[in-house]
Amino acid sequence: MKVLIINCGSSSLKYQLIDSETEKVLAKGLCERIGIEGGMLSHTASETPEREARKIEKAVEMPDHVKAVELVIECLTDKEYGVIGSLEDIDAVGHRLVHGGERFSEATLITDEVIKAIEECNDLAPLHNPANLTGIRSCRQLMPEVPMVGVFDTAFHQTMPKKAYLYGIPYEYYEKYKIRRYGFHGTSHSYVSKRAAEILHKNYQDFKVIVCHLGNGASVSAVKNGQCVDTSMGLTPLEGLFMGTRSGDLDPAILEFICNKENLSISEMLTILNKKSGVLGLSKLSSDFRDLIAAANDGNELARTTLEAYSYRVAKYIGAYTAAMNGVDAIVFTAGIGENNSDVRQLVGDYLSYLGTGVDRSKNDVRGKEAVISYDEARIPILIVPTNEELAIARETVKVLGR
Ligand code: ADP
Repeated sequence: MKVLIINCGSSSLKYQLIDSETEKVLAKGLCERIGIEGGMLSHTASETPEREARKIEKAVEMPDHVKAVELVIECLTDKEYGVIGSLEDIDAVGHRLVHGGERFSEATLITDEVIKAIEECNDLAPLHNPANLTGIRSCRQLMPEVPMVGVFDTAFHQTMPKKAYLYGIPYEYYEKYKIRRYGFHGTSHSYVSKRAAEILHKNYQDFKVIVCHLGNGASVSAVKNGQCVDTSMGLTPLEGLFMGTRSGDLDPAILEFICNKENLSISEMLTILNKKSGVLGLSKLSSDFRDLIAAANDGNELARTTLEAYSYRVAKYIGAYTAAMNGVDAIVFTAGIGENNSDVRQLVGDYLSYLGTGVDRSKNDVRGKEAVISYDEARIPILIVPTNEELAIARETVKVLGR
């Protein structure tokens, strides 16, 4: 089956066409600045035994997402850099969806009723869900016959027990508005935790694993016997770890204090917490860890402190989740920083001697591939497992369609 994976943001659309039998990416690309002047499209057709990889980049105006999907289909079917003969070759579309609220605990076939239910979750993810729905509507308009599946970022975390997902605020806010912790990056946490069990030849149903998904957005999850029991993001992706530009956990009273001092509204303050805080805000430098490490190695004190504060918080979550699961069988790093940044892994690993484990410096010089990086006698293996959310979405899509 050829599955088109769509990840639609408010002004961007990422896509991959995956052959579900071989699990190979046939083509992938990105549309940027949709609805904004200066649109850009990049498309790469993967290498095959017959030909080399082909990449095109072009400036093209995309007034809306329908136009973007139209261009994606044109690229996929193009005679020169396309990978399929016609639209009929696309067997299914898998949509990455951010918030499924309490309604969706697994991937779901998209129907009119499901679209309505996703709309009802818009309040919970006002930036993401409407954009995701635009992607669904655009694809439906252009491919009305093709079955579509929604895969939710929150779904994997729906197994969290009440004690983990409730906030310590009046219960009526949960009853009235469903204010609770939901968690995100679920597709990644699910894929990576399963893969870790496979690599270690463990039974996933009898396995306690902590997954550290450290990308621009970052979250940790505790997965016990195949089910998520806790995760660091909350009602929104703002809770938990320090991130590229998000603050993560803080004392909520800080909001009023800064608003008063700086004459800001709550929504301006939330923009600061989402876009100008975390690693960027603290280091006064960059949200990108490559810049941070370079500066820290150059003697920039604030960059060093930021790096230490970041790693310290990851280590604290590992401690908390070890307690939550009454033990841990493996600790895994994934996503941009987790897969590529040996400094952060080393710093986090240095906190884990109480568990009888740590990162072996000589094994840690690895980027973007599966590896065990704990020292040989370690009681608990520490791994790198590159995430692959698109492949996970393709697998879910095939599963839901029962093919
Ligand atoms: P997201 O998907 O959440 O936007 P990513 O998973 O791509 O984010 O992670 C982005 C982060 O990964 C950036 O901070 C970047 O510095 C870091 N990163 C990516 N590649 C490397 C690398 N080769 N070395 C060090 N850090 C890297």
